[in-house]
Amino acid sequence: MPTYSHLQELKRAEQLPNPQRIGACLTCRFWDAEGSRDEALAPTEALCLQPELRNFQLIVSGGSGCNRWEKQPGVSAEAEAYARRGEEYASS
Ligand code: SF4
Repeated sequence: MPTYSHLQELKRAEQLPNPQRIGACLTCRFWDAEGSRDEALAPTEALCLQPELRNFQLIVSGGSGCNRWEKQPGVSAEAEAYARRGEEYASS
């Protein structure tokens, strides 16, 4: 299986249904990480508390993602830029 250095690379390379719904944990309100939501936090691992997923006790990094993503209010522009890096495929 191929691996990727960023979730946007994976979204571009794999055949996923509705890839536009997939967001990064770093900018997701369900990611239970402490600390400022900037790019430096991306390698950190924390639980996912999304109601449909929390029973799975998913441990995800800020660079992980899924299609249950919902935006964390007040997330920094730096975190947004990290999450969207390489996203230009979406318009093609
Ligand atoms: S796994 Fe999905 S729902 Fe959970 S924190 Fe990451 S993006 Fe959000």
